[in-house]
Amino acid sequence: MSTIIVHGSVETSEEAPFIEGLKKGALKGYAKLTEGRLKAIEAAVNELEDNPLFNAGLGSVLNRDGFVEVDGSIMDGETGKFSAVAAMPQTRYAISVAYRLLEESDPVLLAGSGAALFAREKGIPLDNCISSEQLESWKLARSMLDEGKKLDFSLYTGIKKETDTVGCIICDDDGKLAAGSSTGGSFMKRPGRVGDTPIIGGGIYSSDQSAVVCTGKGEAFIQTLTAKFVDDQIRLGKHPQDVAEEAIKRMTRLTGETGGLIVVDALERIGISHNCNSFPVVVIVNGEVKNIINSRMISQPAVN
Ligand code: ASP
Repeated sequence: MSTIIVHGSVETSEEAPFIEGLKKGALKGYAKLTEGRLKAIEAAVNELEDNPLFNAGLGSVLNRDGFVEVDGSIMDGETGKFSAVAAMPQTRYAISVAYRLLEESDPVLLAGSGAALFAREKGIPLDNCISSEQLESWKLARSMLDEGKKLDFSLYTGIKKETDTVGCIICDDDGKLAAGSSTGGSFMKRPGRVGDTPIIGGGIYSSDQSAVVCTGKGEAFIQTLTAKFVDDQIRLGKHPQDVAEEAIKRMTRLTGETGGLIVVDALERIGISHNCNSFPVVVIVNGEVKNIINSRMISQPAVN
């Protein structure tokens, strides 16, 4: 048995192109599972980083100064190894850079230009990641700010208001777990701002008990250490769905912010919760694709 779950974040459209994009990512991950959990995570997230519909890699939101700075992380539940990159410019594949870093013996977190330099050293090409839609969004926001108008765009998705960060969690055939996440962060963010995506215990965690990825207002997930909270609760024997709901309620109570999370435990039980209008998630259980929209599971035909 194996389970792969990918999410496209809160407030992301649940229309066909978004669900199809998520399915494509999940299937890419499934196809790589024979090479290992982390390779599968990387393949799934790379696919979504290449898809301009999502706020990761190519579709990343622009910061205040009109640049993309990405965050990404990966964690292996079996070994407890974690690596991340933060506020990294000029690089599309944050998940791959984090993974290459995990394969090194020492650093767990690289930031800014040093992370981009490491990416180049590992053969990951230079890429400004600026999609035409996000550039248009930024120009409009910039002109509104310059005219002293209030910005009413989505914090995470810019003008499109329908797409966001991506994440992937896996429980493999042996009940071993892993998690990965990649994002352009929040729209018009201050240069250098880092969200929860590369913060262990905040936006991501994995152990022998669970793999969890959070999304939404990064500052809220960091301050409440939500990903670690989820793992701690699952360790007490609770069901992941109960824990996911408890964790989102707790984060909401403590911060009043918005977000969602996905979690899988070593028994392949899953939990999905959020406090927003939408949260598209795709699950593959043993090769069978399922859609989960607003925590409702809809069976889909088996994968050929
Ligand atoms: N949590 C990410 C951040 O704050 C954004 C998101 O997941 O939507 O950077």
